[in-house]
Amino acid sequence: MKYLSTRGHVDRKRFCEILLEGLAPDGGLYLPESYPKVDDITLTNWRSLSYADLAFEILSLYIDDIPAAELRAICRKTYTEAVFGTQEIVPLKPLEPGLYLEALSNGPTLAFKDMAMQLLGNLFEYELGRRGEELNILGATSGDTGSAAEYAMRGKRGVRVFMTSPHGRMSPFQQAQMFSLQDANIHNLAVRGVFDDCQDIVKAVSNDLDFKRRFKIGTVNSINWARLVAQVVYYFAGYFRATRRNAEKVSFTVPSGNFGNVCAGHVARMMGLPVERLVVATNENDVLDEFLRTGVYRVRGSMDTHETSSPSMDISKASNFERFVFDLLGRDGTRVRALFGEQLGSTGRFDLGGDPAFGLARERYGFLSGKSTHADRLATIRSTWERFGVMIDPHTADGVKVARQYLQPGVPMVVLETALPIKFAATIVEALGCEPQRPLKFAGIEALPKRVSVIPADVRVVKDYIARVCA
Ligand SMILES: *Cc1c(COP(=O)(O)O)cnc(C)c1O
Repeated sequence: MKYLSTRGHVDRKRFCEILLEGLAPDGGLYLPESYPKVDDITLTNWRSLSYADLAFEILSLYIDDIPAAELRAICRKTYTEAVFGTQEIVPLKPLEPGLYLEALSNGPTLAFKDMAMQLLGNLFEYELGRRGEELNILGATSGDTGSAAEYAMRGKRGVRVFMTSPHGRMSPFQQAQMFSLQDANIHNLAVRGVFDDCQDIVKAVSNDLDFKRRFKIGTVNSINWARLVAQVVYYFAGYFRATRRNAEKVSFTVPSGNFGNVCAGHVARMMGLPVERLVVATNENDVLDEFLRTGVYRVRGSMDTHETSSPSMDISKASNFERFVFDLLGRDGTRVRALFGEQLGSTGRFDLGGDPAFGLARERYGFLSGKSTHADRLATIRSTWERFGVMIDPHTADGVKVARQYLQPGVPMVVLETALPIKFAATIVEALGCEPQRPLKFAGIEALPKRVSVIPADVRVVKDYIARVCA
C-alpha cells in the first residue's frame, strides 16, 4: 500500500514514512492510493473477532511495512479492557428501537480521541525504537486533544510531549487530567494567553526549520493518517453490533469539528461497509453543514468562530475536509491544489454548488448534515436523561439532535458518543441541575499534585524550555 498527497505531488510513500510526518511536502494530506475493498465473506469472518483482532485485520490492509505478528501485538496491547473499560471496547447502547449510541469515550481521557491516540502512542514507540530515533511532540490544546496525546505518550520510550494550553481556561476536570500526570516525558506548559496564542507559538516553532530539525519536533494533529485509519475500526465494530447480516445497512451520525472522525466513516464506506448515511452534526460553527447544504466552503475568521458549550467542535476550518473533497472531485489533485492551496488562501472560500460533483456528496457518498445550538444541546441532554436515564455530553447531544432529523425505518442509526459528560460538567448542571456521574478512577483528581509550568506567551521561552529538557 502506497500513499499519495491530495494536492497531486508525484511522490508515493509507505505507511511508516508518513506515520511521523504531518502534511505532505506540497501541503496536501496523505491518502492511500486506493481503498481496499472488503467482500461479503470477509465481513462475515470479521463479525466474530475481538476489537483488537478486528483492528489488526483492518490496519494490515493499510500497513505493509510492519511485520504482521508485531502489528497484531501492537493492536492487542492497545485495545484492552484495562485501558478501555469493557471487553467490547466500544459497546453499543440502545436509546430507543433503531437509535443507538456507540460508546467511544471510555478510554483514559474519556473522549473518542483515545481510540486513535492510544494506538498512535504504541506505533510511535515501535517505529522510533526501530529507527533508533527520538521525537519531541509539540502541541497546543484547549482540552481533548492534548490530554489524549499525553495519556497515549506517557512513559513511551523515545517520545517527549510539550503541550501548551491557555492558562486557567480549560475546565477544572481537564486541567486536573493533564496536570496530574507525573511522567518525566510529559511537559505541561500553561501559557498566559488564549488558545490562539498557544497555536501561534507552535506554528512559530515549526516554522523555525533549524530548531525543528535540531530538536526533532513533531506533532500529533488530526490530519495524521494513522489516527484516521485507527478510527475506521469502530465503524466496522458498530456496524457488526447493530446488525445480524451483511444485507442490513446502518447509518452513522458523527458530532464533527475537523472532519477527522466522519472522514474515517467515509473510508469505511469506501471499503464496502454497508453504510446508508453519514450524517455530519455541527454546532453553531457550521462550516461543514453549510458546505453539505450549499456547496460553499467558507473558512471563518476568529471573530466569526463561536465559543460554544460543545467546545471540541469549535472550528474555523475543518482540517481533514480536503481528504473528502479529493475523493468528491474524482481524485483530481490539481483541482484540490487550486481550491485549498490557492483559492482558500486568497479568498477564504470556494463554491462547488454549481459543480455536478457536488450532488455526489449526498447521492454517491451518503453525506447529510445538520446543526445544533446551545438550546438544542440542553434540550437533548434533558430529554435523553428523562426518557432513557442516559446522561450524554454536549457533543454527543449535538449528534443525537441531528440524528433525529434523519431516522429511517429499518435502518439502525448509530450516534457516535464522543465524550463523557463529566468532562463538561457545567453544561450538564445547566441542563439537568445535577452534577454528572464520575467514573470511579477519576474520584478526587482535582486534589492531586499538579505538574505544570506557567509561562508567558513567548516563543523564546518555549524554545528555551525544550532545549533545556533535551540537553
Ligand atoms: C475532537 C472532538 C470532536 C470533533 O471530532 P473531529 O474529528 O474533529 O470532527 C467531537 N467531539 C469531541 C468530544 C471531541 O473531542
